[in-house]
Amino acid sequence: MQPECSKCGKPAIYLRRYTSEQLCGSCLVQTTVDRVRRTINRHKMFLERDRILVAISGGKDSAALLHILHNIESAFPKSEIVPVTIDEGVRGYRDKSLESARELSRSLDLTLEVFSFRKLFGYSLDKIVQRKPSSSLGACSYCGVLRRRALNTAAQELGASVVATGHNLDDEAQTVLMNLMRGDSPRIARTNVSREQPTQGFVPRVKPLTELTERDIVTYSHHLSLPYHDIPCPYANDAYRNDVRAFLNDAEYRRPGTLLAILRSSEAIVSAFRESRQEWKLMSCEKCGSPSSTRICKACEMLDTIR
Ligand code: SF4
Ligand SMILES: [Zn+2]
Ligand SMILES: [Zn+2]
Repeated sequence: MQPECSKCGKPAIYLRRYTSEQLCGSCLVQTTVDRVRRTINRHKMFLERDRILVAISGGKDSAALLHILHNIESAFPKSEIVPVTIDEGVRGYRDKSLESARELSRSLDLTLEVFSFRKLFGYSLDKIVQRKPSSSLGACSYCGVLRRRALNTAAQELGASVVATGHNLDDEAQTVLMNLMRGDSPRIARTNVSREQPTQGFVPRVKPLTELTERDIVTYSHHLSLPYHDIPCPYANDAYRNDVRAFLNDAEYRRPGTLLAILRSSEAIVSAFRESRQEWKLMSCEKCGSPSSTRICKACEMLDTIR
């Protein structure tokens, strides 16, 4: 027999294991939007007159992010949403996902802005992979650093006051655990700077989906038939993250709520760092002027290796 929705009694289609809720389609949508609204309020992510750059990749997380924010922000007519895709230049992958990002934006009456690595840095990621020294970091390290820079540049050019990204609870818990396992807890604080303490030169970044699991998001996107693509990137090969993901998936399955507990622990770490006023000194990169903790920023250093 099909279980009943814990909220309204209709036939349920989804069990949210960490809250033990059985949910029908419309209660799944409603509770998902409510969870994101709570996350936004808890961390004071948005202001009434924000111009919000929503980073969308064409995948399920950012499709859900744009759809949910569009819903929530419709109650705030003075705020504005600008969907942006960073085109890293990965043939057969990013071109396909761009189509999904365009289709989703169009369905919400929004215009997608695209910023490419080739225009911003002179090279596509495919070219970077060909030119980078074989002994250097992998494609994802180049991609991550340059995408972060590209998003900041896009936000500055488009006059956005905040950047929202689609990181989910699984991503966050993996990143926290990886930083702990590398002995780098200050990084957890450094990469989760609150909006109230902005860093000069960086448009603040927020992650409204961090209290939704990947499973929540897949079910939401699937239930609403949002256009998204799920072909994996040909360069995806982070063995360390894959190990941590497998471990956490198993832990969450055996003890639902583990991922959320890791997120709460990381929030405690961030506030402890803030209270102890541990600050990292920033200077301006000698090449590009961006804020950097070293004389030459990471993006310039990487671009130097391929020139
Ligand atoms: S898998 Fe790696 S290279 Fe591909 S888009 Fe993600 S970070 Fe970039
Ligand atoms: Zn229901
Ligand atoms: Zn630089």
